[in-house]
Amino acid sequence: MIVVRIVHVSKDYLLGEQKVQALKDVTLTIDAGVFLAIAGPSGSGKTTLLNLIGCIDTPSSGKLYIKGHDVSSKTANELADLRAHTIGFIFQTFNLLPVLSAEENVEYPLLSRRDISRSERRQRTNYFLDIVGLAKFARHRPNQLSGGQRQRVAIARALAIQPAIVLADEPTANLDHVTGEGILLLMKRINRELGTTFIFSTHDERVMAMADKLIRIEDGEIIPDRRKGSQPAPFPERRTGERRRANVEANVVERT
Ligand code: ADP
Ligand code: MG
Repeated sequence: MIVVRIVHVSKDYLLGEQKVQALKDVTLTIDAGVFLAIAGPSGSGKTTLLNLIGCIDTPSSGKLYIKGHDVSSKTANELADLRAHTIGFIFQTFNLLPVLSAEENVEYPLLSRRDISRSERRQRTNYFLDIVGLAKFARHRPNQLSGGQRQRVAIARALAIQPAIVLADEPTANLDHVTGEGILLLMKRINRELGTTFIFSTHDERVMAMADKLIRIEDGEIIPDRRKGSQPAPFPERRTGERRRANVEANVVERT
C-alpha cells in the first residue's frame, strides 16, 4: 500500500523579492511500513519535503496524496483533522512543552481527539511511555531528562495518536552519536513491531546507513543513490535477511 504519493511537486518561498525554489518537480511514492531516510546537505529541501508530507505546508504546484487523500483539495480544518489522526511528528529540538511532565507531553496530542476517552488517553500514554522505556520517568519534566530521554518522550508523543506515518526531521542532530543510534534503533524496532511508517531526514551518513531505503535530495531535487554496491534502482532495497513486510515492496520513483 502506498501511504504518500507526491506528483510533480514544487515549492517556492519568497525571500523578499527573491524566489527560492526549495523543491523542484519532485515525484515519488512511499510505501506503508517503510523505514525511510531522506538524506541531503543543509538547505537541500529536507524540512520542506517533510512539512509538505506532514500537511504543515502546501505545495506551490503539483499534487500530494496522503493515504489516497488529495491534500490540495482539503480545507485547513480537514488538514488538521488528517494530521491529528494520521501523522506523528518528531523534531530535531524535541519540542516538548517545558511545563508539562513526560506523561502530559505524550498525552497532549490526544486532548484534541474527541473520539478518545480520558481512560483510553491514560492507557495509551502509559503504553507508549513504556514502549520507549520511560515508564519510571512519567512525572519528570523535560529539564529533568537527558537529550536522549527527551527524544524518547517525543517519540512516545508522536505514537500516541497511533499514526500511519511518523515524520522525524533530523531526530538525532542534537544528540551524541551513541544516543542518536539508540533513538534510531528504537524507531526501527517500533517500525518493525507496530508497522508504523517512519520517514526521517538526516545529513549524517551513519544515520542514513540504518535506513531500509534512502532518498537523496540536493538543491530541491531527488537524485539517484550513487553509493557503492547499491543497485542501479533509485531506491535500492537494502534490507537483507530481515523479515520483509509484504507491503514494503517496489518503491516506484518516476523522474521526468
Ligand atoms: P533542509 O531542511 O534540507 O536544510 P529546507 O527545506 O529547510 O532545507 O530549505 C530548503 C531551501 O528553502 C533553503 O534554501 C532555505 O533557505 C529555503 N527556505 C526554507 N524555508 C523557507 C522560508 N520559510 N522562507 C524562505 N526560504 C525558505
Ligand atoms: Mg531542515
